[in-house]
Amino acid sequence: MPSFEPLVLSSRNRKKAGEIAEILAPWQISLQSIADFPDVGEIDEDADSFLGNALKKAQGPARQLGRWVLGEDSGLAVDHLQGRPGIHSARYSGPQATDQSNNEKLQSELSGVPLERRTAGYVCTIALCDPQGELRASAQGTCRGLILDAPRGTNGFGYDPYFLVREYGRTFGELSPRVKHQISHRARAFSLLIPQLLRLRDELTATR
Ligand code: IMP
Repeated sequence: MPSFEPLVLSSRNRKKAGEIAEILAPWQISLQSIADFPDVGEIDEDADSFLGNALKKAQGPARQLGRWVLGEDSGLAVDHLQGRPGIHSARYSGPQATDQSNNEKLQSELSGVPLERRTAGYVCTIALCDPQGELRASAQGTCRGLILDAPRGTNGFGYDPYFLVREYGRTFGELSPRVKHQISHRARAFSLLIPQLLRLRDELTATR
């Protein structure tokens, strides 16, 4: 049986991968980037749910590489837009989307909507597949906030400068990475996943 670690992280988004590495660091769970495996092609994120996409990101590479692989799918679900951009958050403004063009589209869709009705949730779903491609653990986390009409702060990525966390009176663009890693959708999903990872690691070590 191939060793559990380093877990392969099936994401080429450097900012996201950096956040995940920082969240996992205190647990000494080692990660390797999918970028180290040039033979693994792009994954079509065409499932109809965050879990479906997270599973696709993990399953194909796990089978191809014969390794334990983590897939993560995340996005911003805006209540006034019936949950959009949701699973389409990365390419919201088209195939060549950038963070800037996505935020411009979001602002135009929310134009004229008062702040109290600009409620939204960031969602993060993670799936872990074993080297046979079987789903062995999963978790989802959400972080609620409001979408401002002007950016504040330069931390984070994506929609962060517009995403106000009410309890802190600050956007994810203004909050330090240390705070974001405590309260974000990604932090919450990993806080549910980490006990499952540690249990699996213990079980696999015990049977060696
Ligand atoms: P994925 O790589 O297909 O999961 O796309 C995730 C997309 O959702 C990113 O490209 C961002 O647009 C958005 N997103 C997810 N998590 C965050 C976050 O923590 N901050 C800002 N944007 C995020």
